[in-house]
Amino acid sequence: MQRREDLPLDLRRRFLSGRAALDLTHTGGEGQYAVWEIIHGPEDLSQWLGVILEVDGIRASPQDLPPLRGLRAAITRAARGAAVGRALPAGDVATINAAAAAPPLVPVLRPKLPPAYAEPTAAAALSTLARDAIDLFSSPLADRIRVCAAPDCGLLLVDTSRPGRRRWCSMQRCGNLAKVRHYRHQGNDQ
Ligand SMILES: [Zn+2]
Repeated sequence: MQRREDLPLDLRRRFLSGRAALDLTHTGGEGQYAVWEIIHGPEDLSQWLGVILEVDGIRASPQDLPPLRGLRAAITRAARGAAVGRALPAGDVATINAAAAAPPLVPVLRPKLPPAYAEPTAAAALSTLARDAIDLFSSPLADRIRVCAAPDCGLLLVDTSRPGRRRWCSMQRCGNLAKVRHYRHQGNDQ
């Protein structure tokens, strides 16, 4: 069982966006996002969907990879567009809606045990993530999707803070680096 909090900081910060759907976009992608790719096969898919959704034992097969890439690219474009005030692309909306139409993960109540999911599959997990994307893009939080302010970062985040001043994917990483830079800069001026 792997959890966000057990990951080294540089990986963990990919999964701190505040929304599962955005965390998914940090697992890799097309073009400039290919350098982030960590899902190379079904085992990776099972592992990283498990970290994002906190679900153990997700069954994944090679057939799940194309739908993953399609949904991930759609959410990535939609979210990065939203971060700069752009309307959601119609093709991406259709991709997200199609993924959400599949049966999602089914929670199971287990008295005196943490909740679990009945026979979790990657296909169901992708539906659950598409539904999270629909919920996010339909809510006022869609206007709070941002790109981390650190110039060398590029991760997305949802600012759920009341004042709306969250700027960093991770205070520990990008927030601190900015503080250090600011400090050095001040030092140079003296
Ligand atoms: Zn960052």
